[in-house]
Amino acid sequence: MSFRSIERPPSVQAGAKSPTAQLGATVRFVAGGTNLIDLMKLNVERPEQVIDINGLPLDKVERLPNGGLRIGALVRNSDLAHDPNVVRDYAVLSQALLSGASPQLRNMATTGGNLLQRTRCVYFRDIAHECNKRNPGSGCAAMDGFHRTLAVLGTSDSCIATNPSDMNVALTALEATIQIQGPKGARTVPISEFYLLPGSTPNRETVLEPGDLITHVTLPAPTRGTRSVYLKLRDREAYEFALASAAVVATVEGGSLSRVRVGLGGVGTVPWRSREAEQALEGKPANAANFRAAAEAALRDAHPRPGNAFKVELSKRCLVRALTLATRQV
Ligand SMILES: Cc1cc2nc3c(=O)[nH]c(=O)nc-3n(C[C@H](O)[C@H](O)[C@H](O)COP(=O)(O)OP(=O)(O)OC[C@H]3O[C@@H](n4cnc5c(N)ncnc54)[C@H](O)[C@@H]3O)c2cc1C
Ligand code: SF4
Repeated sequence: MSFRSIERPPSVQAGAKSPTAQLGATVRFVAGGTNLIDLMKLNVERPEQVIDINGLPLDKVERLPNGGLRIGALVRNSDLAHDPNVVRDYAVLSQALLSGASPQLRNMATTGGNLLQRTRCVYFRDIAHECNKRNPGSGCAAMDGFHRTLAVLGTSDSCIATNPSDMNVALTALEATIQIQGPKGARTVPISEFYLLPGSTPNRETVLEPGDLITHVTLPAPTRGTRSVYLKLRDREAYEFALASAAVVATVEGGSLSRVRVGLGGVGTVPWRSREAEQALEGKPANAANFRAAAEAALRDAHPRPGNAFKVELSKRCLVRALTLATRQV
């Protein structure tokens, strides 16, 4: 596939910046459209031009010679969730996808679009309010407003918006890499380096540059004896974003955790990799006391606001439960 097959207008070639667009571009790709078109209807996203990428040959899930998996950016969430390789070797990803949105939305939503879906912060989605992410420098209405659903990890004085995706949390625990084709060529970025903390520029969410197209997501080969779980806690059991979620990929040998990867959702400004929890667990017996100690470590740096302080304990309990499920004997 050649990126040049997509004609890029002069504004993108010149690297023109839009004041609000996530990718800093006035021209946007549309895949499933379930997020971009939604936001265009709300006047939150106002691209000058939208390019439909659905005709690109990026809709396959393929086994790699090294045993890993290559997922095309246009693979629908429902197809990915039910892919036999994913169900067997990457259960955490299948479970995360099936916990998101609705069957109809999952039939439209794509891997690339899910990676880049934007926050559900109510002030971001309503142009009547101040929002540094949508309108840099305007302020943050959520700080002293409704922030029950927003983040407690990775926040800044400028923004406390949560990354809303379930899939991203599973991909974080799986140590996925993102393949990108852009004006300067192809590059690969580990998911742990793909998202940017809000800092003073919450309008910039990823390392993508104008004109960059996500082509694939790659998963490493599964480790023998590894089990994985995605657990999502929310206000209702379907059609609802996470208040807290946990993705665990764990290998237990002789009763101890020889390897564990932890992703947290619903609590981070980016899909949250908890290296603190991983370090607290690796080499230790898989038991309740160690799970709780790992959860304490994971949330140690949390900065809650009054309305979302409950998330700190909720996230800890979610992680403890996910670890219990991932390591129990079957
Ligand atoms: C009512 C509702 C409930 C939902 N509930 C959940 C939930 O519980 N959990 C959850 O995780 N998600 C949920 N979602 C979000 C849903 O998963 C996303 O809207 C969807 O994954 C976005 O994928 P898409 O292909 O439709 O993206 P699009 O809307 O087409 O695109 C989204 C963004 O990605 C960019 N883009 C798309 N593909 C590429 C590419 N290949 N390269 C570069 N840029 C690209 C677009 O330019 C745009 O900026 C919900 C959505 C709705 C509407
Ligand atoms: S939390 Fe972030 S997205 Fe929400 S209003 Fe504040 S700046 Fe905007």
